[in-house]
Amino acid sequence: QHELQQAQRAVAEHEARTQRLEGELTALSSRLNEDYLTQLLNRRGLARAFQQEASRADRGEEPMCLAILDIDNFKHLNDRLGHAAGDQALVHLSRVLRESIRPSDSIARWGGEEFVILLPETNLDGALKTMVRVQRALTRRYYLHNHERVLITFSAGVAQRRTGETQDEAITRADRALYKAKAAGRNCVAGDDEANTPPVSLSSASNDEVHTHEKRVRETNA
Ligand code: GH3
Ligand code: MG
Ligand code: MG
Repeated sequence: QHELQQAQRAVAEHEARTQRLEGELTALSSRLNEDYLTQLLNRRGLARAFQQEASRADRGEEPMCLAILDIDNFKHLNDRLGHAAGDQALVHLSRVLRESIRPSDSIARWGGEEFVILLPETNLDGALKTMVRVQRALTRRYYLHNHERVLITFSAGVAQRRTGETQDEAITRADRALYKAKAAGRNCVAGDDEANTPPVSLSSASNDEVHTHEKRVRETNA
């Protein structure tokens, strides 16, 4: 009787330990796919998400887009406010991104101040609109640094994935579009497509809004 109870206790303890280890393992493996600063996906996480989404897109013949985003003049922000403030600006952008796109979209930190977004079930036009929406959200939600309102802008390039296209190929095309967006004056979104549509500039789309906004920022900072 006593021995049976002891054995049962040993089994229960063993089970609890296994469960704890499993939990730790899950947490660890999800962190392996995560960027430590922003808690977005890292490159490894992105590769996984891309594979999943790409095969789903191929099965369902749904369009899928990939966007690459690069913060404008980020060196200047670092120089003016310091590297730690730059890091916090990245965290701020990550939050705004997360909150202004669909939960089913995946966001990864691709490199220092560059991000890649996967937009399943979205065509080029929808993805361009989504990125412009993020830009607008950023002009409304400042990054606050020591009570100073800092305006962060970015440029983005978007490519609609072609059937069978790899992540590298899609990123190369999105990157080409990003280059166009930077060349068009920054704070712009451009698409990589045959029609060669010109970049959508937030400032030309709603000139007044952005200009009065910038003026307000300057006034508040003065
Ligand atoms: P552009 O509009 O052409 O993109 O100008 P930029 O100044 O943003 O130029 P670029 O993209 O070439 O440079 C990125 C700079 O971002 C380089 C580096 O000083 C800074 N940076 C990169 N990674 C980090 C990071 O993790 N934290 C901080 N604080 N700064 C970073
Ligand atoms: Mg860059
Ligand atoms: Mg940059």
